[in-house]
Amino acid sequence: IYDPASQRVAYRFGETIHALEQDASGVTVHFASGTSERYDVVIAAEGVGSPTREKIFPDENKPKWMDITIAYFGIPKTTDDGEFSRQYNTIGGIGATLKPGREDNVHVYMGMQKKPEGENEWSTERQKLFLKEKFSHAGWHFPRILDGMFKTDDFYFDVLRQVRMDRWSKGRVVLTGDAAWCATPLSGIGTTLAVVGGYVLAGELSRTEDLPSALAVYERVMRPFVKEGQGVPKIVPRMLWPHSRIGLAVLRGTMRVAGTPLVRKTFSNLYLRDSKKVELPNYADTSTV
Ligand SMILES: Cc1cc2nc3c(=O)[nH]c(=O)nc-3n(C[C@H](O)[C@H](O)[C@H](O)COP(=O)(O)OP(=O)(O)OC[C@H]3O[C@@H](n4cnc5c(N)ncnc54)[C@H](O)[C@@H]3O)c2cc1C
Repeated sequence: IYDPASQRVAYRFGETIHALEQDASGVTVHFASGTSERYDVVIAAEGVGSPTREKIFPDENKPKWMDITIAYFGIPKTTDDGEFSRQYNTIGGIGATLKPGREDNVHVYMGMQKKPEGENEWSTERQKLFLKEKFSHAGWHFPRILDGMFKTDDFYFDVLRQVRMDRWSKGRVVLTGDAAWCATPLSGIGTTLAVVGGYVLAGELSRTEDLPSALAVYERVMRPFVKEGQGVPKIVPRMLWPHSRIGLAVLRGTMRVAGTPLVRKTFSNLYLRDSKKVELPNYADTSTV
């Protein structure tokens, strides 16, 4: 994306928005570095924790907490790691997956089914110690997983929540992607929503000089798609990271029959999003305004 876009777009690495002031003719953006610029439109695509969203739409996000805390990082591969992913399930609402990565690397996903307690605000060091406390007793590959976790800088940790906004634009500032509607990794469709959101927003902005109507159409096209994507039942995390022996038996039994056609179809209907519900406009003939 960077190479073709950089012909027409000025990238500012290491920069963030400090403040925005908008009026009828444009938006003045004051950057953290101390410089200011004037723009026609500001598009915030800063992900689930978007600071610009919080500045422009204070208290408008009503997050839906999914009661899942996850960590994702890479550890060195050993001769023990084959071609297949391996999943570890136990009781107590915790679980982990080891997935083959590139060359010398194995990807680790760790999950905990629990109510959020602000863990996403903690320092990385505290988050790693928290995972150690939760997983060090669990056996399996956790000694080397935890050892690798403390050595890696490539560490992702978050408490999963959907972003729920009644509107995605205010004047000349518009949100897109996870900043507007994060569906969480549980949905399996966050990247699709982000790419399609960018496509529709760019398409509508290029169709007209009437900004309010372009933003209204963007929202009208994207709402059904986002609603579909965010429709992950909260029961899914509870099933994947069971707390009780009965829950674990149900999960293992389900896994055992998961490959049969009937179960596959039932799960697909329950879990997979229906992309056909959304009609995407074709902007191919749109002349740039
Ligand atoms: C572990 C995990 C697994 C996932 N698996 C899948 C999957 O299998 N399929 C799928 O479709 N989706 C998946 N997703 C979701 C997907 O990654 C997101 O939905 C998607 O990346 C959202 O794109 P985005 O551009 O809106 O936000 P992001 O990808 O979050 O990008 C936001 C960017 O903004 C930058 N930024 C943040 N704050 C500022 C600031 N103040 N100023 C400037 N820049 C800022 C960030 O550094 C980042 O580069 C997964 C997510 C995770 C965490």
